[in-house]
Amino acid sequence: MDNQKLAALLFPNVTKTPDDYENIYPPRGLAEGVKVTRFAPSPTGFMHLGNLFSALIDKLAAGKDGVFYLRIEDTDKKREVDGAIDAALAGLAAFGVVPNEGMTGQETEKGAYGPYKQSKRADIYACYAKKLVEEGRAYPCFCTEEELAGIRARQEAEGANPGYYGKWAVWREKDLPAIEQALSEGKPYVLRLRSLGDENKKIFVNDLVKGKIEMPENTQDIVLLKTDGIPTYHFAHAVDDHLMRTTHVVRGDEWIASLPLHVELFSALGFKPPKYVHISPIMKLDGGNKRKLSKRKDPEAAVSYYIEKGYPAGGVAEYLMTLANSNFEDWRRANKDLPADDFPFNVKKMSPSGALFDEAKFEDICKNIISVMSADEVFEKTGEWAKQYDPELSALIEEDPEKFRNILSIDRDVPKPRKDIAAWSMVKDYLSYFYDSLFKIEDAMPQQLSDADINAVLDAYIAAYDENDDKDTWFQKLKDLCEPLGFKPNVKEYKKNPEAYKGHVGDVSGVIRVATTGRRNTPDLYYVLKYLGKDRVIARLNAAKK
Ligand code: GLU
Repeated sequence: MDNQKLAALLFPNVTKTPDDYENIYPPRGLAEGVKVTRFAPSPTGFMHLGNLFSALIDKLAAGKDGVFYLRIEDTDKKREVDGAIDAALAGLAAFGVVPNEGMTGQETEKGAYGPYKQSKRADIYACYAKKLVEEGRAYPCFCTEEELAGIRARQEAEGANPGYYGKWAVWREKDLPAIEQALSEGKPYVLRLRSLGDENKKIFVNDLVKGKIEMPENTQDIVLLKTDGIPTYHFAHAVDDHLMRTTHVVRGDEWIASLPLHVELFSALGFKPPKYVHISPIMKLDGGNKRKLSKRKDPEAAVSYYIEKGYPAGGVAEYLMTLANSNFEDWRRANKDLPADDFPFNVKKMSPSGALFDEAKFEDICKNIISVMSADEVFEKTGEWAKQYDPELSALIEEDPEKFRNILSIDRDVPKPRKDIAAWSMVKDYLSYFYDSLFKIEDAMPQQLSDADINAVLDAYIAAYDENDDKDTWFQKLKDLCEPLGFKPNVKEYKKNPEAYKGHVGDVSGVIRVATTGRRNTPDLYYVLKYLGKDRVIARLNAAKK
């Protein structure tokens, strides 16, 4: 077979050689050990938490000196969604995972190793496809769907492995005249790899997370270019990762099944293979069993869920850091104020098995982050979120922004701030009782008190209440109410002889708290009452009488 002739026939318009591309995209000249990583999503408009996780690992692995670029793998036009690149960029930016090279918008990019969108790289793929044909490592296959189905049926009948390989690869050994004939008839064809693999031999890959991977060699003559000339993921990514000088391929471990093929492709193309970092999926406990976080079953599998619920931007990334390296939590305790970027991330410390998504832990991290924010920051972020996702809350904020800000300031900027809020969507419930339209009695009065006791406390408090009291005066009044009503102002003393009293000062304030807020647990009652305002306080105290 005259491979040169076949290559010229199949690729008449290719003018460049692989050497030309080697010169256009030279090695990056980075210092030894500095990493080049990439996040390479398909523009489907959906980002799985696992994708964000792998992008975070890309960013951490590249660190401050390396390159982390965004490549768009849009070879499957059927799955493409309008605006998906902007959406992916916004998704990454929302969690502080920002690439420093590659696509920057639907049609824009930065960096010297582009184009970073596969649909713009047709010439490059054609050049390398031509090279493979010239070297006898690729050939055209004119099989129709029906013929392929026929092969499948015969394989099934014989119990042979499925696929296009060896004796089943009918176009593998066709001569030039047969190919010329098919071409002259205008038959569509795909370009296939001529695999040299032997299923009795093995490939060995030292994965940085999974360790030594040993698998049988690839034997499949897989499709490199589809009938329309568009490359498959396998072929395109090998060309791209080489020319973009990727040092570490970070991706989900579902790709391990394709490793033998990728090893053969890199070798056939004459490329040095990258280092591999195959990440385990994020798992979830479901009825006592561990399973993958599923796009179909779990709303929290979508990155957009965290934006819609209003989790603080840093919370998701911070939580994913704890999944990435288990020593992150100790580091964080010792370095409370440092940016997560300063953490000495180590790819090799990643767990080879799937990490469990722990919602309670994730929310704790978010609560910690929000607890140390200023009232102004919480005010601003809640407002921005509500504008988009909660019109009712947005209207309440706009009705009286000062009141809203004041409520948020209660128990903030103190040494031990409360940790009630994990997401902006929880703010409405947190402060609902400040608004008559949302107020409802949620908790019961202290249970040992009779209706008469409760009414007595309410009456006495209404009589003593002065909205201008400062905090000390207010609390003193509360204590002064106790003895005449049969309560003990001091909790310790009460506990020494509980039978002698109806309760202690906490029970008196409990009655007032439940009457005015509907809850047993609220931030500082003095400020709560202050921001509720006199009219509302008196009205609710009266309404609570039995
Ligand atoms: N485009 C592939 C995907 O979205 C990327 C796989 C890879 O990172 O190599 O799954």
